[in-house]
Amino acid sequence: MSGRNGIAGEWGHNPLPLMREGEYPGRRCYCGHDGCIETFLCGGGLSREFQARAGVSLKGEEIAARADAGDGHALASLDAYRDRLARALASVVNIVDPDVIVLGGGLSNIARLYDGLERLVEHYAFSDALETRVLRNVHGASGGVRGAAWLWGGARGEGIEADSRVARLQGSIPCGFRQRPGPLFCLPWATLNTPYFALCFRT
Ligand SMILES: [Zn+2]
Repeated sequence: MSGRNGIAGEWGHNPLPLMREGEYPGRRCYCGHDGCIETFLCGGGLSREFQARAGVSLKGEEIAARADAGDGHALASLDAYRDRLARALASVVNIVDPDVIVLGGGLSNIARLYDGLERLVEHYAFSDALETRVLRNVHGASGGVRGAAWLWGGARGEGIEADSRVARLQGSIPCGFRQRPGPLFCLPWATLNTPYFALCFRT
């Protein structure tokens, strides 16, 4: 997806939807606005949430480990993060209604974040029942690079048909969702600082 201004997919610089007391107006983002999604959903956002509760600053994987050990502050921090993520993703679903959202970035490796996430997105999206899946990526940090390579091939008109481009990337599209049967079109959306995602649509 390319737009007039080259900013398509910059979901991280929309304000966090449905801000609650304590969230509004949010931190100043480097883009100059306050309360950008990115400031809440980046690794630092999770760390700040935990620090506000526990008084110490930890990285995402450390917070996840504490949650696995039953730490109440860590569990509450991940709950807050999951809810914000769901609100942000629901706003994307309302616009482009994808079949699948595949999450990338460091925090996407926290398995606990996926517990109940789809139902939360359903709660916030404009639909009583949502079939959109929210999945963890299978290519790790290379997902964004794969997506860029895949799009580059398409931009040059090489392999217009999705499957042929997929074949040149050794049999997998960026998110790896190709494992499921049926033709899919996947739109990688990658940013450096925010959890990034790919949107997949059946074609
Ligand atoms: Zn911003």
